[in-house]
This record gives sequence, C-alpha cells and structure tokens, in this order.
Amino acid sequence: MFVKVAIDLALDRLFTYEVPVELSGEIKVGQLLRVPFGHREARGFALEFEDCGHVGLAPLPVKASTGRVVSARPPSGAFGERALPMKLKQISGIADPAPFFSPEMLRLVRWISDYTCSPIELCLKAAVPAAVLKPNAKPKQLLFVEPGPPDKVKDSSFTSYQRELLENIRRVGGGWVQQLCREFSTTPNTLRAIEAKGGVVIEPRNQRRDPLAGRNVLPSKPLNLNSMQRAALDQIIDGTSIAPVLLHGVTGSGKTEVYLQAIAHELSYGRGAIVLVPEISLTPQTVRRFAGRFGGKVAVLHSALSDGERYDEWHRIRTGEARVVVGPRSAVFAPVRDLGLIVVDEEHDTSYKQDETPRYNARDVAVMRGFFEKCKVVLGSATPSLESWHNVRQRKYAIVSMAERVAGHPMPDVHVVNMEEECGERESASIFSKFLLDAIAERNRRGEQTILFLNRRGYSRVLECKACGHVMSCPQCSVAYTYHSADSCLRCHICGGWTTPPAMCPECGAREFSYIGVGTQRAEQALQKCFPHARILRMDADSTSRKHSHDDILSRFRAREADILIGTQMIAKGLDFPNVTLVGVLNADASRNMPDFRAAERTFQLIAQVSGRAGRAEKPGEVFIQTFHPEDPVIQMAAEARFDGFADAELKDRKDAGLPPYMKFATALFRAKDELLVQRWADLYAKSLAKCPGLTVSDAMPPALERAEGWYRYQVQIRAASSKQIAAAWRWIAQVRPAPKDVRIALDIDAVNVM
Ligand SMILES: [Zn+2]
Ligand SMILES: [Zn+2]
Repeated sequence: MFVKVAIDLALDRLFTYEVPVELSGEIKVGQLLRVPFGHREARGFALEFEDCGHVGLAPLPVKASTGRVVSARPPSGAFGERALPMKLKQISGIADPAPFFSPEMLRLVRWISDYTCSPIELCLKAAVPAAVLKPNAKPKQLLFVEPGPPDKVKDSSFTSYQRELLENIRRVGGGWVQQLCREFSTTPNTLRAIEAKGGVVIEPRNQRRDPLAGRNVLPSKPLNLNSMQRAALDQIIDGTSIAPVLLHGVTGSGKTEVYLQAIAHELSYGRGAIVLVPEISLTPQTVRRFAGRFGGKVAVLHSALSDGERYDEWHRIRTGEARVVVGPRSAVFAPVRDLGLIVVDEEHDTSYKQDETPRYNARDVAVMRGFFEKCKVVLGSATPSLESWHNVRQRKYAIVSMAERVAGHPMPDVHVVNMEEECGERESASIFSKFLLDAIAERNRRGEQTILFLNRRGYSRVLECKACGHVMSCPQCSVAYTYHSADSCLRCHICGGWTTPPAMCPECGAREFSYIGVGTQRAEQALQKCFPHARILRMDADSTSRKHSHDDILSRFRAREADILIGTQMIAKGLDFPNVTLVGVLNADASRNMPDFRAAERTFQLIAQVSGRAGRAEKPGEVFIQTFHPEDPVIQMAAEARFDGFADAELKDRKDAGLPPYMKFATALFRAKDELLVQRWADLYAKSLAKCPGLTVSDAMPPALERAEGWYRYQVQIRAASSKQIAAAWRWIAQVRPAPKDVRIALDIDAVNVM
C-alpha cells in the first residue's frame, strides 16, 4: 500500500511513500506521519491512499524493472502531482495516531487550495494551530494526589499528623501536590511518605491551561425571545433545509441570544457548534456570554492565547470535551465532532479575510464546511455584505430579518452635520461641530457616556513645510509620516518606522511646519480643551499595543470610569455599553473617499455599526455624523439605516460596472526591491493573462500604496464570470512564467482591499 503525503515545504505537490506492512492497519487519512525526506526526517499529513506506487498516472505506463516512469505527461491535477520514480521510500512512523483532519476537513482544505490557488501544504498548515504542530508540544503535566482506599486511614502505621492530613485530602477529594502543600501547610516529602504507606497515589496528570481561568463567569439562563427572535430561531433550527441563513438584524436586535439558543438546540441533539467573531469583538464580554451559558463545554481560540492554552483548547475540541468553539477566522477549522451549526457573526467584517497565503475568507469557508459536513450555517449582520445579500436574492441563502431592537428600544436619532457651515473662529471647529459639542456637554451633565469615532490614529496626518509644501514621508514606504504628539515623533503606519521631526525642511531649509489633518491623539487633546473636567479614554492601535490593554480600556469605560471614549474602528464593532447615549462620527468622508470600489459599502457599514453603539438600553440614543458632503446618498441612507435602499442602489451600480458580486474579482500583487523589475513582471503577467478566455484584465499599475517596507508594488486586477476561470489562468501562467526569486507574486481572489 502507498500513501500520498503533504510535507510542510510549500512545493504544492504530494510525495508518495510506501506503507510498511507492520503499519498498514494503523495508517489513516489525516494523520501526521514521520517520513524520510532527503537526508533528514520530515513530517507530513497523509492525504490519500494508492494501491500502486505511481502517482497520478493511470494506468501503469511504468517500466518496473528500471524504476522509471515512461510517460512524460506534464504536471496535472489540482495538486501539481508529478511523475515520481518507482523506488519509493517507506514512511518512518506515525507522529500522532489520532487524525488531525477528518475526510470532510481534508475536502474543505483541498477546496481552499483550489479556490485560492495556494499550495495544499500551506492550506493544511493554516487549518491547524502552530502550537499544536510544534514537535515538542505536549500537555502540561503535574503531580496529582489521589486518595487511596478509605479503610487505609485506620492504618496504625500513620502518625497522628499524617492521619489528619490524609483525612483532609480525602475530604477535598485529592488535588495537585503544590496546591495541597499550600492548602494544608505540608511538604511534598510528607505526601510521599503517606504514599509509601499506601494512603494516597501520586501520579502525573494533565493540567489544563485554561484561558478563562480567573475570569469571572456567571452562569446565565436563556432569555425570553421576542416574536422576531423566536421566528429567527425557528427558521435556523428548522431541519428541512440546509441552505445557509442570513440573519439580518439591526444593531441591538438581540442576535447573540438567538445564536445562543440555536447552539443550545444543537447541543441537546449531541451536536457541536462553532461561532466566528471578528477578532476585535472577541472581548471578555463576548467570551463570558458563551462561557456563562455553556460553561466547560466552551473552548476559546484567539491570538492572545499562550501556546499552551491553544494546545489544550484545541485538544479539548478534538477529544469532544469542548463542544462550542468561539474564535476569530481560524476557528472555522476547529476539529469539532458532529458539527451541527456554524455562526459567522458580523459576516461582512473584512477581518474574516486572511491577508496571507492561503487568502481565504472564513465566511465562505464556513459555508463550504457546512456544505461538506451537512450542518447549518448562520451569517449574522446588521449590514450584510453585498455578496451575501446577492446570494439571498439568488436564493442560495435563506434570509430572516429582525428589524427592531429588543425590548422596544428605539433606533437612535441620527443627525447629519454639514461641516461646510461649521467654519469660523472657534478653535476646534474643524474637528467638532457646535451641535456635537452641545450634545457631549449635555451627556456629561446627565452622567451618560459618549463614543467618538475617528478613522485615523496619531496626532495629525502630515507634517508639511510652510514654505515649499514638502511633506515628511517614510523613505521605505510611499506614505507620509503621521505625527504622534505623545512622544513627539513621526511614525510610518505601514512599516512602523519612526523619526524625530526635522528642525528644518530637507527640501528648502525653512524652519516652519504646519500640522495637517486630525488623528485620534489630536482630537483627544482638542476635546480635553473643550471639556477640561471630562474623563476621556482613547482607543487605537497606539493605546492598545500592550497585551490586555484593549480589554482594560473597554472595562474601564463600561465601569463608567470615563465619560468619553474616542477611537478608531476598533470601537465600531459589536460593543454593547448600556450607558452610551451619544455617538459622533467625526469624519464620515474619510472612508467614503477611499480609492476602492467598496468605499460606499464600507462607509455605510461603518456609519450603521458605529451608530448602533448608541442607546442600546432604556435610554434613547443620538448620533451625529459629520461630513462635508451631507447630500451624499450613501451617507443619507446610512443615517436612516436604510439597508435595502442602499443595497438596491449599490448592487445596480456594481452590475453596470461589472464588479462583485456580479463578477469574480481578484488582484495580483507584485513586489520587488527593484522598481523596473516589478513593473516588467507585472506587465508581462497582465499581458499574458489578458489573452486568457473569459478574463478582463487591467493594465499593470502601482496601487495607492506604491512602496512598503522598501518593496515596490504593482497590481493587476482580474475579473471573470467564475473563479475557476481565474484559477485556471493563474495556474497556467505560474507554470509557464515562474517568477524569479527576487519578485514576489501573490494572487488574492475575492480581494477585499483593492488598494
Ligand atoms: Zn520646505
Ligand atoms: Zn514606512
């Protein structure tokens, strides 16, 4: 018997090994195997079995005596299978007898490899946490003291002290050596002495590294559902159809409670569930809601876990101890057994798209996993992506709407403020309109809280020479430096490089500069000037670089230790603060003017999501949207939360322009240290791809970010009716025109960032 193995080398090919007779009954697909590779040993996943040793070449064009494959067929098939010599090595052993992938999961990973044109090895790697695959990864073992038989206590060989200790250990049901020593003021030696007399058994046991340890998790009971929530739940748990369900619920409509009860339904039938949330929403608050309802059945996977915690959580899922997994995009691969439901919360969120190979979108992977494993998939959002909305119209997805907030809480009052009319002598007029300042003052008086949103961190956008207009820019990247007042330095937001502001302009020698544009730091300072007594918290990438600082800021705000929270889009998502009654969007035009065909969609989502933070409890909410274009229909419809109207108009524009969701859209990004080289390769690819049938290919052009970290960048945009056409063309060109080592080329199918 022979087995095809994917070795972690990103060669996009499988290697065939012979299975030694003594292992033939034990090898399973999805297992991690140890195999000889060159002069060393490598590890790789068993993907499929073969009865005969030649790979991908049916039937037997092989001269067995010379051990050479005769047919010169070119590489073919989805995994770049190649003709291999007949002399096959044997696998050395099985690294882990329990398969890492079920047959359905392997199917899913292969789909990702095909769809994103990524090497199968990288797709497998993306689906298992690195902490689990480390050769030295293992559970944490500690010594556990288990009480011996009860009649042992009467044994006369114990001293009275030992007998008392033994009775105590019996009473608490045993425990870890360290813990018992602390609790009963004794020593490991005393415990060993008791063990020697047969009073206890001391043995190494796995101790779980629990990411929720020490977190205050209060058990919660299911809430009463209103009629809309009830209808949504009924449709989700209805077993007659397995089409994905788009749960379109306005902000504050109680989607999470519906998820919780749908999961409880699955658990009652012995099935497990996965809940995907954007990383930024994976706050202790979210985790507590799931842990509070399902207790020890919940596993959490996110980037802040230690390797040990991640290892233990993953194994708890694989063994079936944990039945509900909550995590960001990579949690879509969690090895949940008997999966009954996958929930993708905030399904429109761009953080579901992985920005390195394989460039998958976890929402789409969830839908495919649901298809392969025949489980329900629920996509929830107040502002669904137009892709999902289109799928509803095409009847590929079912839809259920929750158009009202829970408990009759009204939607917030939204005002669009024309910043054109706000000029004048007032110092901060360019940042805060009079309307907004009055509203903040009112909240401060009433002891209610305010959230202000500004999509730009730092103090001001650029430092510009007053004499010649020269803008200080990063020498490595094609972007202006951002001035940060906290440490008075200029930072590049692309590469993280920094420098001190120059004393004189490097172009003309003048010594005067102006600070242009407003960042969160500057807005915070200006706000403090307007309200000297207000307590202000700022949340952006700069204030949250430390571990837990993100949680700290939110808990302090929740505990009403601050009146105003000002931040970047980090604060736009999923947060629920009952005392917030005012939300201000300081500059709605920033995202509207992005050079991206999704700028309107992003702006609508942003305004609707940020507005959704206001008035989520009994107190009504109010929202101010500051813009220089109050007449813009996108801003108007976002202010009125008219998703249907927005989607109709935007979909029509996309259809006319031949853009997603009507066409498949991919970008090819080319990077090199040499500008001419990158241009030449981008040109070559653009011209060659343009000859492929069914493809519409743009000219090679530098994207908005032309240079990053010293690499020149070029982009080619590709459109086609189906992703298969793009993938076929891409595999062809990668084969006939392989790029040299100093040019990096990446295809991003369904790109979410067009810049
Ligand atoms: Zn100058
Ligand atoms: Zn830079």
